[in-house]
Amino acid sequence: MRITLVQGDITAQDVDAVVNAANSSLLGGGGVDGAIHRRGGPAILAECRELRASHYGKGLPTGQAVATTAGELAARWVIHTVGPVFSAAEDRSDLLASCYRESLRVAGELGATSVAFPAVSTGVYSWPMDDAARIAIDTVRATPTQVTDLRFVLFTQDAYTAFEEALDAGSPGQ
Ligand code: ADP
Repeated sequence: MRITLVQGDITAQDVDAVVNAANSSLLGGGGVDGAIHRRGGPAILAECRELRASHYGKGLPTGQAVATTAGELAARWVIHTVGPVFSAAEDRSDLLASCYRESLRVAGELGATSVAFPAVSTGVYSWPMDDAARIAIDTVRATPTQVTDLRFVLFTQDAYTAFEEALDAGSPGQ
């Protein structure tokens, strides 16, 4: 699996699946979620509503992932995952790692080989970027997957730098 870092907008990625930092309602929100629904059009929300009605009446639990169409995006699927809200009092790292593991599991079920991830939980959910980057990189490296092209699409220069450092830190000898 090749891991690449891109600075930009995840909705513009030409990949099989883009991962959405959703909230548990699956009914849309700000940040990446808002951008995906705006650019992907109403088909995504329609499928999210169906999923809520059929499976997730209480919401999609934190750390889990589920796929819908990507509507008008270049991607074929959106994989919605719910990151944990950062807490200084409680270590929720396992839940953040689970977002990456579960998204890769769903990607495998779909047969997606190229997947773009945002920096889950680092926006409204206020996870410190360096720590989130380390968890993201370590987790995808440790997860067996058929995905061959895994991209982290980082919105800001700070996020890009944090992911670059996490990627370098885990590659001894480079
Ligand atoms: P969360 O609620 O999980 O914190 P957010 O969407 O608020 O999710 O933020 C997650 C990260 O995505 C933040 O680092 C934010 O800067 C970034 N982001 C926001 N919009 C986009 C976009 N269109 N493409 C990629 N990343 C984005």
